[in-house]
Amino acid sequence: MSIELPEAKILVEQMNDELRGKRIKSCHLQDYERLQRIGMLNRDLKVFDHLVNGKIESVISRGNVIRVKLNNGMNLILGPEYGGQILYHADEKTAPSKFHLKVIFSDDTMLTVRLTSMGVIQAMNDNDLGLSYVFRRDFNSEVLSPIDKEFTFQRFSELLASNSRALKSVLVGKDAFVVGLSNSAFQDIIYRAKLHPKRKASELSMDEGRALFDAIKLVVQERIGFKGKDQFYDLYGNQGSYTPAMGPNMKQQPCSVCGTPIEKLSVGGGHVYFCPNCQV
Ligand SMILES: [Zn+2]
Repeated sequence: MSIELPEAKILVEQMNDELRGKRIKSCHLQDYERLQRIGMLNRDLKVFDHLVNGKIESVISRGNVIRVKLNNGMNLILGPEYGGQILYHADEKTAPSKFHLKVIFSDDTMLTVRLTSMGVIQAMNDNDLGLSYVFRRDFNSEVLSPIDKEFTFQRFSELLASNSRALKSVLVGKDAFVVGLSNSAFQDIIYRAKLHPKRKASELSMDEGRALFDAIKLVVQERIGFKGKDQFYDLYGNQGSYTPAMGPNMKQQPCSVCGTPIEKLSVGGGHVYFCPNCQV
């Protein structure tokens, strides 16, 4: 299950409360060879040694990328994009044997990170942050974040109007004009906005654009409110309780609004479930 903006936000709030001020005693990596081969982890693992003795100053996120900032000019960038777990452990007893990165703090509490699909674990110097693709993508202030005050309907509708691409590519992926959403949120959002998955941005009427804008805000806020999607586990291993209104969980189910059987379409390199009656 993908970690999208709401889940990253939940993790970051917990990490700030729990980890701020802690000093890193040691970092341990395991089962990392494949991750390294496909660019999900630093090529030079010695960079992780530079995290040691650093004190956690703050933890922030934008989109679905998490930046753990240390007081010694170093950062840990975590982007469990398509799945992963970031867990806090009060002691060794509750720490899992499977992890990619284990950070032990000077008070012997620890943090483990395990990616279950594509994502990144990177140790980066402040000056090198721009070399991280996911950091560059999501911390780019020119791309809107649905929870920032700059995300206004006026700005959003201007972007829609000037873009003839399909809705999925303007909301999800590297050319999107909002950060932090993936295919899961996309299906949920366009179902609530009653828009067909193949609609194009510039073809939307003002009312349809408004419905899309409101649905983005609603899905993001509800998911944060429900402590994440129902397949998500937070820093303490607690499961989220947000069930998407549309997605693979609705396969072969009737639409909860009109009863029409849900269908599946191939859109932009992935599958999108939708109601052929409600979404036009
Ligand atoms: Zn329907």
